[in-house]
Amino acid sequence: MSLMSPDVWQAKIRLAGWAAGAGGTRTVVEPATGDALGEIGVAGPADVAEAVRIGRTAQREWARAPYTERAAVLRRAGAAWEQHAAEIEEWLIREAGSVPGKAAFETGTAAQECYEAAALPAHPYGELLRSAEPRFSFARRLPVGVVGVIAPFNVPIVLAIRAVAPALALGNAVVLKPDPRTAVSGGAVLARVFEEAGLPDGLLTVLPGGADVGQALVTDPGVPVIAFTGSTSAGRAVAELGGRHLKRVHLELGGNSALIVCADADIPHAATVGAWGSFFHQGQICMATSRHLVHESIAEPYVRALATKADALPSGDPASGPVAVGPLIDAGQRDRVHEIVTGTVEAGATLRAGGTYDGLIYRPTVLADVPRAAPAHEREIFGPVAPVLTFSTLDEAAELAAATEYGLSLGILTRNVMNALELGERVPTGLLHINDQTVNDEATAPFGGVGASGTGARHGGPQANIEAFTDTQWVTMRDVPPRYPL
Ligand code: NAD
Repeated sequence: MSLMSPDVWQAKIRLAGWAAGAGGTRTVVEPATGDALGEIGVAGPADVAEAVRIGRTAQREWARAPYTERAAVLRRAGAAWEQHAAEIEEWLIREAGSVPGKAAFETGTAAQECYEAAALPAHPYGELLRSAEPRFSFARRLPVGVVGVIAPFNVPIVLAIRAVAPALALGNAVVLKPDPRTAVSGGAVLARVFEEAGLPDGLLTVLPGGADVGQALVTDPGVPVIAFTGSTSAGRAVAELGGRHLKRVHLELGGNSALIVCADADIPHAATVGAWGSFFHQGQICMATSRHLVHESIAEPYVRALATKADALPSGDPASGPVAVGPLIDAGQRDRVHEIVTGTVEAGATLRAGGTYDGLIYRPTVLADVPRAAPAHEREIFGPVAPVLTFSTLDEAAELAAATEYGLSLGILTRNVMNALELGERVPTGLLHINDQTVNDEATAPFGGVGASGTGARHGGPQANIEAFTDTQWVTMRDVPPRYPL
């Protein structure tokens, strides 16, 4: 039997802990064609409490199990991603509109996230402390209990697994709420992989559903930690609600990241790097290169090279053959992108490539002479659009790069890497890539934005994960109780 055939979704999700969807069912739609790919159960807010209850019960035993058992489950999950990569990638291509390279990046990263997480159970989990008293004093890290993970549609596997894998490895249970538009690739697939890996029942429950299910997760008293990835506006709502309920909320939010192209950059090479940053996965990446800040002396040849590249990129249904640019997720997202492009042209920018669409396929678009007050400079686009602005000094480049509320990623192309390093200290950003574009992610590296992009690095690498998904307990031990003067 195939890992992911529609007839096993319901049963397999149920095995992962979810008995009934209070939200009925939903048709899984292929954005490139509008075709129905199947039906999947949808959770409602009423499903959350039961999922959390099951998780809390299963978690106690899981936390007490030998660390080697948790490590083994994570290693087997890593192997399952590799074994079933082709089938899972097909779902990513059809349900999420991923081009094949992006789909392969997701399965490869998912395997790596699990392998990295497999090392966490063996990691030291505390430290011995000095005490002026005759006692043994130490701090230990304990699992928080049940972690709520809320993930978006754009990179549905990686943005879920980067929290799910370390949270499980560190002895927690997880309730995962994927975006309903990617309920199979961002939800059912994870449930099946962990089932195949032998994760005990109840530890992972997948609840595909809308914002109301997310809110129920944030307010449930049995969920002390929420890992949220999504838009800044939804992140604000989650943070407000979480604050009221005194939850620890990790936020990975939107971006408006800049690529600074210095005067000494190689122009054709820089245009290729910039094109990747803006057009990979149709620009639906939080770290996408959303603004190209180019030295005025090379701006025209850079724009020409970028526009030539944009015009040449094959776009269409990624399931139909080799394309570089696939569909946007839905009509709402496409209309938003088009409104930003037309609004930017009305504000005085020059359209040098693209600016049109066919169904959900938005042509790679290059906008030159973009004014600072234009929407393509001020707003997150989340589409295949490369706005270009110019600068004359590095001070001006730093000021422009920092001129939005976001702080996710920054790329700098230059032969003078020390200048770039110094520039990177002046721009608030969680990620800095010198001589690369802005889209980079590795399971071993701390990942997270500042400002309106989130609450800093909470994913990637043991330090961030242990901080994110465990609590610290101070413990003292004496032979006999002390005598108090009472
Ligand atoms: P979104 O915020 O609308 O939805 C993200 C998830 O949150 C979905 O599962 C959604 O159902 C849920 N949600 C929405 N409102 C909620 C609420 N009030 N309470 C609880 N849950 C709620 O995001 P989107 O527009 O679908 O996704 C794209 C956004 O995600 C972009 O802004 C992008 O930059 C951001 N993103 C950030 C990162 C990162 O790591 N920083 C990664 C990928 C995407």
